[in-house]
Amino acid sequence: MTSMEARFRDAARNVPLPSPWNLSAYLASVAAHRGRSISLQTVPAGTLADIGCRGAGLWVARGHDDIIVYDASATDRNADHIILHEIGHMLFGHGKNGTAATPIAPTLAALLPSISPAAIKHVLGRNDFGTDRERDAEVFADMTLVYATLPRRKNRSFRLFGRGR
Ligand SMILES: [Zn+2]
Repeated sequence: MTSMEARFRDAARNVPLPSPWNLSAYLASVAAHRGRSISLQTVPAGTLADIGCRGAGLWVARGHDDIIVYDASATDRNADHIILHEIGHMLFGHGKNGTAATPIAPTLAALLPSISPAAIKHVLGRNDFGTDRERDAEVFADMTLVYATLPRRKNRSFRLFGRGR
């Protein structure tokens, strides 16, 4: 089994972290790498409590793009962390075969009027990913935020490390 650190290094090599850190720029790079656009939608926290990753985030996959739905009350670093958790699932390939598709709940669908339920392929939350994948996505979000916001000197040495091995 590949170590988390190695997988994180691969992810950072495929999609470099912007320096200085900028979530929008990073999401654009992830989208370009995967060939699928990514959009963000916020919903009231209570909607995600039972189904979301850490009760706060959800990956909604359509035929040609992905939507990250997250807690509207999350701000700044907290919101970045929730979004990066979902990006971790994407970059680690957690959405591929073998993952059960949960139909979108009517209460959630009502909060996302711009998303046609018929267009949704998968709604992926913590129960769909399971404990191991949840932990991996969480560590990915932790590591990304740490490396993304390290002082510039340390950030540079990380990138050299990532390229050299
Ligand atoms: Zn998750």
